[in-house]
Amino acid sequence: MLIKTDQTEIQNYLVDASNYKGNCEEVYFPETKEEVVSVLKSADSSKQKVTICGNRTGLTGGSVPAEGILISTDKLNRIIEINEKEKYAVVQPGVLLREFINLVEEKELFYPPDPTEKDCYIGGTIANNASGSKTFKYGPTRDYVIALEIILPNGEEIYLERGKFFASDNNLRLTSKSGKQLEIILPRYQMPKTKHAAGYFIKENMDAIDLFIGAEGTLGFITEIKLKLLNKPQNILSSVIFFNDENDGLDFIENARNESYKNRNENIFDNIDALALEFFDENSLKFLIEDFPNIPGNTKAAVWFEQEFSKENEELIFNRWIELIEQCNGNVETAWFANNINDREQFGEFRHAVSWKVNEYISRNNILKVGTDIAVPDSSFREFYFFAKDKVRESGINQIAYGHFGNSHLHLNMLPKNDEQYRVAKNIYTELCREGIKLNGTISAEHGIGKLKRDYLLMMFGEETIIQMAKLKKQIDPNLILNYGNIIDPKYYENI
Ligand SMILES: Cc1cc2nc3c(=O)[nH]c(=O)nc-3n(C[C@H](O)[C@H](O)[C@H](O)COP(=O)(O)OP(=O)(O)OC[C@H]3O[C@@H](n4cnc5c(N)ncnc54)[C@H](O)[C@@H]3O)c2cc1C
Repeated sequence: MLIKTDQTEIQNYLVDASNYKGNCEEVYFPETKEEVVSVLKSADSSKQKVTICGNRTGLTGGSVPAEGILISTDKLNRIIEINEKEKYAVVQPGVLLREFINLVEEKELFYPPDPTEKDCYIGGTIANNASGSKTFKYGPTRDYVIALEIILPNGEEIYLERGKFFASDNNLRLTSKSGKQLEIILPRYQMPKTKHAAGYFIKENMDAIDLFIGAEGTLGFITEIKLKLLNKPQNILSSVIFFNDENDGLDFIENARNESYKNRNENIFDNIDALALEFFDENSLKFLIEDFPNIPGNTKAAVWFEQEFSKENEELIFNRWIELIEQCNGNVETAWFANNINDREQFGEFRHAVSWKVNEYISRNNILKVGTDIAVPDSSFREFYFFAKDKVRESGINQIAYGHFGNSHLHLNMLPKNDEQYRVAKNIYTELCREGIKLNGTISAEHGIGKLKRDYLLMMFGEETIIQMAKLKKQIDPNLILNYGNIIDPKYYENI
């Protein structure tokens, strides 16, 4: 197995897309499950800290080690099977999502979860329960995980299949491949009803597999994944609409969201049922205009939407969208409509570019961005949106706001110019989290907690629940070696 120790060679592995930086002594590149087992067993017996990394596109420092060793999944990158008949795939964690999606689509199949950043690994998306634009219709990564092969921190292997192992009265019993029993007492708390990726997934009588999805690598190393696939949609209508008033853009989202839910519930197929509903504010568009000069002048907001259609319902669906655009004062003349797959990919790139450019800006200027990942219930979203934007505007800090507004999920990015602005931005961020929690939302809808958002998880769930989470982790990882520092502030392990 390749092991890198030269500090200049491993620097790239000590930072993620949030620009959060760390340290470690060695980076391991296992090529087989057996190698992962052996590294974990040895680390566990010497109580050495181990961090796992995927392609390091995470935004919360989750894959960045503070000490010890790092295990990269770069070389665990085999697509083991794509079963076209039964519509599933079996992959190793280091498979690049972009390549997987392309391959699946060549076979006329469809894997919906696509975080805006497709250059991530599938293992990273499972560990973070990643979401993307299509989550509005198709849900998060969790919904597509059929089975996981996991190496526990002590090197024991478990295989969890959805629908096979359930908790009972908050107790979960698992048996490892070698026959060792693991009894886990689960925490008791309520998760918000919004899109949510903050802390462990806990539910009464839950399926064991759900505990490990979104656990940010704190409970085990995922070495193999079985994923559900769908039939590839026949055609997709993709469009970007520009508005001269921000409220019109928000009205458009709200109407399209309500109609989509209604038509979906009532199985109406020849009307609006969006796949994606993504919003960009005026400042986001200013960030993008250099690369996309055909953004019309005087635009205050834009919405990118997509919807599947067939030859039979194409006209009805298209006409209904045009009606809605006009009803919300969107400009049909300046709107972009995709005529082919290249156009559609361009619109996807338009969405990706806005988050990418923000990350590139912070990296170039060597600052830490302060960006929200808050989702609130649909009924409170507009109130929350203006509350957040007004707070930042009053501070004079540059901001750009965009996100998965179909899911009432806001990425508001503050771009502080100096330390003083950074301090102010952090205070505003705290206030926004408090407001999101007050509205029964979540402080993280998709990026997770990692090492950067632990204080806000505490704000959301309270100390007693964080201690319960720490106890959960300690039952599975008594020596606290794996992804130490993710989700839970280490101080909570002290007296348990
Ligand atoms: C421009 C941009 C846009 C983004 N947009 C979105 C978005 O829309 N939605 C979204 O959800 N995310 C988004 N992200 C965040 C990121 O892409 C996702 O979180 C992605 O899932 C991370 O995958 P990765 O391979 O880069 O994982 P990494 O960043 O390397 O790791 C993420 C976490 O997973 C753990 N991990 C990785 N592999 C394993 C494994 N095999 N077993 C156990 N734990 C493991 C790591 O320890 C770490 O805690 C965006 C990022 C960028 C840069």
